[in-house]
Amino acid sequence: MKIKGFIFDFGFTLFYFDNPSVEKYYECFKEGLIKSIDILKEKQVWSEELTEESFIKRFAKKREHFFRRSIKTKTEFPTSLIFQNVLESLKEENIINNIDHIDMKTYNKLAEIYHSCEEDEWEPFEETRETLKILNKKNIKIALISNHPNHQTIENMLKKHKVAKFFDFIMTSAKYGKRKPDPNIFLYTLEKMGLKNQTDFVIVCGDEYADIIGAQRANLQSILLERKYKFPFEKEIEVSNIRKINNISEILNFVE
Ligand SMILES: [Mg+2]
Repeated sequence: MKIKGFIFDFGFTLFYFDNPSVEKYYECFKEGLIKSIDILKEKQVWSEELTEESFIKRFAKKREHFFRRSIKTKTEFPTSLIFQNVLESLKEENIINNIDHIDMKTYNKLAEIYHSCEEDEWEPFEETRETLKILNKKNIKIALISNHPNHQTIENMLKKHKVAKFFDFIMTSAKYGKRKPDPNIFLYTLEKMGLKNQTDFVIVCGDEYADIIGAQRANLQSILLERKYKFPFEKEIEVSNIRKINNISEILNFVE
């Protein structure tokens, strides 16, 4: 069968994070959050009543709350919205100064800074670039769907590693509002690739339950890239005859 398109996942499919652990993620986020405080000071939002420690604690609590809700409802709560929520609650409690002058552009900037440490850590697999290049040469459409709470961070990383140009369409849960495995994020992407109603000719490649089950719900083919390490609390993928690969370059075996 002639494959017309691929929809890739980002994390641990096209890019990897060295020595991943929950602790490392949190460390990275904390580093970003501390940097974002500088902006709040610059914008004269910060007040002496607020300590760095209490701000970090409050932010972590909100993030946890939104994360749990996103898992339950499959709705994404972008990082920019968490910042907005935290600042609004601090204002309500009269802990900080006026925030009327903080616009969406600033909230997006705060989110970008928050994820900046993570941005430095993710790198493409050795074979990623060449694989995308070959698919491009074969005129196969390429899209990316990532469950990520800040769209710009994904765009920045693709650009930084000079692979953005290979994609016909880049989508994130932050931008779409829903997370994988919601089938609609796949169907929307398919339309944007110009492959609406071509589900038989498109393969989703990812390393997680959300990718494989999402593909199944959208009636798309799928290939599981088997990760070397397991994440905590990972969902079992109950799909029979699942096609598996160990390296991203192996997807080339599925195209003519
Ligand atoms: Mg992944």
